[in-house]
Amino acid sequence: MKEIKPPKKPLIFYYGITILVILLLNSFILPAIYNYSIKEVDYGTFLTMVEEGKVEKVEIENNEIVFQPFDTSESKYYKTGAINDPKLVDRLHNANVQFSKVIPKETSPVLSFILSWILPLIIFIAIGQWFAKKMQNRIMGGGNALSFGKSKAKVYVEAQTGITFADVAGQDEAKEALQEIVDFLHNPNKYKEIGANIPKGALLVGPPGTGKTLLAKAVAGESKVPFFSISGSEFVEMFVGMGAARVRDLFKQAQEKAPCIVFIDEIDAIGKSRNSGISGGNDEREQTLNQLLTEMDGFDADKGVVILAASNRPETLDKALLRPGRFDRRVPVELPDLAGREAILQVHAKKVKLADHIDFNVIARATSGASGADLANIINEAALRAVKLGRNKVTQNDLEESVEVVIAGYQRKNAVISMKDKLTIAYHEIGHALVAAKQTHSAPVHKITIIPRTSGALGYTMQVDERETVLMSKEQALDKITTFMGGRAAEEIIFKTITSGASNDIEQATKIARSMVTRFGMSEEFDMMALETVNNPYLGGDTSLLVSAETASKIDDEVLNIIKSCHQNAIKILEKNIDKLHELTKFLLEKETISGEEFMDILSGNQKEDSIT
Ligand code: ADP
Ligand code: MG
Ligand code: ZN
Repeated sequence: MKEIKPPKKPLIFYYGITILVILLLNSFILPAIYNYSIKEVDYGTFLTMVEEGKVEKVEIENNEIVFQPFDTSESKYYKTGAINDPKLVDRLHNANVQFSKVIPKETSPVLSFILSWILPLIIFIAIGQWFAKKMQNRIMGGGNALSFGKSKAKVYVEAQTGITFADVAGQDEAKEALQEIVDFLHNPNKYKEIGANIPKGALLVGPPGTGKTLLAKAVAGESKVPFFSISGSEFVEMFVGMGAARVRDLFKQAQEKAPCIVFIDEIDAIGKSRNSGISGGNDEREQTLNQLLTEMDGFDADKGVVILAASNRPETLDKALLRPGRFDRRVPVELPDLAGREAILQVHAKKVKLADHIDFNVIARATSGASGADLANIINEAALRAVKLGRNKVTQNDLEESVEVVIAGYQRKNAVISMKDKLTIAYHEIGHALVAAKQTHSAPVHKITIIPRTSGALGYTMQVDERETVLMSKEQALDKITTFMGGRAAEEIIFKTITSGASNDIEQATKIARSMVTRFGMSEEFDMMALETVNNPYLGGDTSLLVSAETASKIDDEVLNIIKSCHQNAIKILEKNIDKLHELTKFLLEKETISGEEFMDILSGNQKEDSIT
């Protein structure tokens, strides 16, 4: 975000100082320098020097006499005041001194004025301008030191964001919807002639990190118009009354610069429903929101000001914001699909040096559910890892490792784990992998590791879907739960005891089982009855039950039944494959990390003899 401060006041200030400096120079300093090289003596000394033959040359001016001695060691020139001395000419003549009377040459007053006033002024202004520009660059480069505590509402503008749709990978639908706005900003007359009403505002909605801010910048970059942007959270931090002032200022400037784009990022910070707060909510926010609504109604969209806003939680927005004539258009910006993820990886990979034969498809398949920001982070982590390992190119392995870093936390290299725990963890992970592999509806195992992560996970079994699926069948859901049960099941079978290591599995499995019952209509008991609604689809979080307490307890029973039967199933699968369970665990213990292929080789019994050493 770039900032341009109101330029007038500081410049006037600056010019004032410049003029002062010139005044000082002209009246004191320059004459002082000029005089410095001339030694002043009294008239008597002058006469003595003449009589002693020490003076070579004399120039008589109107009211002073400047003379040059033979011995210039003390000073090259001397001067003394001119006294009305009728004998002076005789004295000089007798002493054989060259002398002359200087006729004062009048330099043209215009020229001298130019030389001593105008010229320095021009030079100073030029230097001043240069400094002002430098300073502005510094501010625009992100320094924020000067903006603190200013009462004037500031506005942020970037003339060219330099970002185009090509920088936004995937998101084709969002781009298409925004293309219309770009087109309008290019050629508003086409729309006016036919009488079309261009939407005043579009609201980009979607989970964090999906590229909403990026898309808004790309719209500005594509249409080559100024881009005013401000973030909703900035309003909230402000002092009383400033939020509204800022909104007013923002729209005023935008109208002057039209056609242009005004972007309000994270609008939920100000746009929250006005009646949602307890105890009347936040007055400041409300004022800001009201001002925003007023401004949006007040200006003429024909001028070419398009307002974009972004939100993670559109359902919390005040209804008034969504009315026709305001943000009446919604542009969903969803998490990327498989192809989208691959494209995003490729866009960001352009910024790093890659080794040959990088397969982004593998990475994309392993990162289902990751946002664009996560993927950008994965590329960056991979580059950091390559540097850390002293390479100058990013390898496939770097990428795969950073998937785990971003998704599961850093490897905890130094954590010491007892042999007994390691054994338990290995059986646990192989339990997951084996159950997954022996079911028809689960994704293939891609990697198993017992190197702990800082996230707290002690081991990790990575599954990668062959294809991207949008729908989850009942069979797939059950297989997933069974796979989660596999870890604990292996511990039970082998050690006849259980550990705390399955806590995350339990949580995940319960989540799926619960959704099956309450949201997906996958239980016999409740059939297709809606039991729960999702309040906040984008932040993945809160749901609320729609049912009586009695039904709620039946739901719990149903969820428990699903989990229990999956648990039994997992135990059955492992008991049937107990030899493989031992064999694979031994292999994993030795290698600590094994790939999907190694796993499948052992499972299908065609591993090379020397691969286990
Ligand atoms: P949001 O505003 O939706 O939270 P951002 O636009 O700030 O997300 O995205 C954060 C970063 O993630 C971007 O700067 C970009 O590097 C990366 N990113 C997100 N989505 C994409 C995408 N579709 N294509 C390329 N990069 C993306
Ligand atoms: Mg953003
Ligand atoms: Zn587990």
